[in-house]
Amino acid sequence: MILSPGATIGILGSGQLGRMLAMAALKVGLRTHIFAPEEAAPAYDAAAARTVAAFDDEEALASFAKSADVVTYEFENVPTSTVEFLAERVAVRPGARALALTQDRLTEKTFLRDLGLKVAPFVGVEDAGALVRAVAELGRPAILKTRRFGYDGKGQSLIREGSNVAAVHRTLGSAPMILEGFVAFEREASVVAARSLEGEIAAYDFCENEHERHILARTRAPARVSAETAAEAKRIAASVLEALDYVGVLAVEMFVTRDRHGREALIVNEIAPRVHNSGHWTLEGAQTSQFEQHIRAIAGWPLWATTRRGRVEMHNLIGEDAEDWRDILAQPDLGLHLYGKLEIRPDRKMGHVTRIFPESAAPE
Ligand code: AMP
Repeated sequence: MILSPGATIGILGSGQLGRMLAMAALKVGLRTHIFAPEEAAPAYDAAAARTVAAFDDEEALASFAKSADVVTYEFENVPTSTVEFLAERVAVRPGARALALTQDRLTEKTFLRDLGLKVAPFVGVEDAGALVRAVAELGRPAILKTRRFGYDGKGQSLIREGSNVAAVHRTLGSAPMILEGFVAFEREASVVAARSLEGEIAAYDFCENEHERHILARTRAPARVSAETAAEAKRIAASVLEALDYVGVLAVEMFVTRDRHGREALIVNEIAPRVHNSGHWTLEGAQTSQFEQHIRAIAGWPLWATTRRGRVEMHNLIGEDAEDWRDILAQPDLGLHLYGKLEIRPDRKMGHVTRIFPESAAPE
C-alpha cells in the first residue's frame, strides 16, 4: 500500500528516534500515532496521537492498528508477538522477520555468516560448562554477550587472560549467551541504508563511530578508510537489505581491521533494524535525512538522494553535556538538537550536535 498525504504512520516506541521520525513525517504531510508504555517521552510532542499502553495490550494494539495506514518501530526490543499481532491487521514495515532476527545475537550472527559476510568467530553458549569449551575453542580475549536485550554495552563482558570464566558467566546471569572472538579493530564504523517497497536501495556514506563507556559519543562522515573499503561497506548493507526483503532504514555496524598484508578488511558486528544514532549526521549533513528516508520507504514512496553536504561530525549530548546548550547556540557552525527530555541523567542521550566542514577541510 502507498500512503497519500494525510495518512497516519503508527510508531512503536516513544524515544528520540520516534520523535525525529514524527518530525520527518510532518515535513511531508503525514501524521504519526505513537504507541508506547511510557507516560511521558520525547516522541509524543511531535505526534498527532498517542496510545500509552503495554506492548501486550491486544485491545489497545487492535485500535492502534485501525488508526494507522502503516506501522513501524523505533527500537528493536519491541516484542515480536506485538509486531506479529499488528501485521495481521495493518502493514508493518520493516516486518517481524528483521526484528526477530536482530533481537537474538546468535541468529543474527548466523544470518550474517550465511550471507557470506565476515563476522567475528562465535559460539552459542547455554551454560557455564559450554562457556569453558567455547573459550578453549575461540581463545582469549573473547567477549561474552547475552543473546537478547543487550544495548550500549549492557549484557556483555570481556574474558581476558586470567579471567575466571565461571565468575564472568555468573555476572551475566542465566540467560542464553554467545561468545565472540575479540576483534582487534582499527575503527568502528557503520552504514545507514534504506530500501524502498519497490526494492530500490540508497546507502549513506560509510561513517565512523567513537564510543565512550560503550555509548556512541561521536560519528564522522565519511569514515577515514579507502574508497574500496567505503564501497564494500555499502555493498554489505545492500546485501543485508536484499536478503531481508527489507523496507525502511537500517544500520549495519562494522569493525574496520587490517589483514596480515596490511589491507583494510570489514567485519560485520550487528544490524539495527531501524534508524540509528550513527545516522543522525544526515539531518543537516545529507540531502535526505535518515528519518525522512525511512518515512518515504515505509510510505511506499521513492527514496531520495543520500548525497553528503561536506564533511560532517555529530556529537551526542550525553547526560550533563546537555547543560552546554547556551554555549552551543552561541557557535554559529554548530547545529543543536535536543530531545525534550526534562530530566538529565548520567548516560542518558539528551540531544546531539552536528557540524559541517567543507569537503576539502582536513580531518582533525
Ligand atoms: P555490541 O553490543 O555488539 O554493539 O557491542 C558493543 C561494543 O563492544 C562495540 O561497539 C565494540 O566496541 C565492542 N565489541 C563488541 N563485540 C566485539 C568483538 N567481537 N570484538 C571487539 N570488540 C567488540
